[in-house]
Amino acid sequence: MTGAGPVLLLGGTGEARAVAALLVDAEIPVVSSLAGRVSQPRLPVGEVRVGGFGGPQGLAEWVHEHDSPVVVDATHPFAQTISRNAVRAAGLAGVPLVAVRRPAWEPGPADRWTVVDDIAAAAATVAERGGRVLLTTGRQDVGAFAAVDTAWFLVRVVDPPTADLPPHHRILRSRGPYDLESERALLRDDAIDLVVTKNSGGELTRAKLIAAAERGLEVVMVRRPPTPEADHEVSDPDEVMGVVQQILTGRRSDAR
Ligand code: NAP
Repeated sequence: MTGAGPVLLLGGTGEARAVAALLVDAEIPVVSSLAGRVSQPRLPVGEVRVGGFGGPQGLAEWVHEHDSPVVVDATHPFAQTISRNAVRAAGLAGVPLVAVRRPAWEPGPADRWTVVDDIAAAAATVAERGGRVLLTTGRQDVGAFAAVDTAWFLVRVVDPPTADLPPHHRILRSRGPYDLESERALLRDDAIDLVVTKNSGGELTRAKLIAAAERGLEVVMVRRPPTPEADHEVSDPDEVMGVVQQILTGRRSDAR
């Protein structure tokens, strides 16, 4: 392997699209990879492939076949499997892994968070509280709330869920980013008592937390799963560029 191929960028997030744009601007070849969960994904600039690799072995094979010099994991903080696979695959393929580890949200003095370990615990908390709930955990996690009949849910999703749904709900199809004005209006107009979210971090979906705090609402916050250790960990797209450029420069001088 000479590493003359494209950077493999595991995406599905705003950061990944930002990294793709920076790489394309710098004329560094890149292939963005999407899982294919969303029917009409926001596409990054540059080349895109869609669908799973078939586990870490398949991912390592892709890297090998395409002669990629580096893998960048810019997937969502709750996309645990692909991040674990990326660590294993980079090891198998013998290339460095750069991971964008977006900082988690931290509560401020005005926040009323109940932090829970996972979606099942979030559902148990909601079942106890009852009331009118804004559920923002994403399509794949809605099923965990199917048995909660003590609350009404406003289920905000990009694509319609396929899992069983709680008996009392309305689906709201929309896609971030959300601004503070529209989040305030949503909480007010639907008389929301409780917000449920994963601790995704980042600015694109943070406004709901500010709007909830303003109304004194409780937020059930699902804790981040642990992330596996990558060779290089950075917190934003600009830092990715610095590390990737260093890796590529190092490779070129090694090849001389
Ligand atoms: P996951 O549970 O970590 O991954 C499940 C499987 O999906 C992986 O083993 C892999 O299949 C495939 N996969 C995931 N991301 C991929 C990618 N970028 N390119 C190619 N294959 C991928 O992932 P998830 O939580 O379902 O999330 C799927 C995608 O949606 C991720 O790319 C993530 O960035 C994005 N996303 C997730 C969330 C969330 O809350 N989980 C929120 C926003 C966006 P193989 O093993 O066959 O390779």
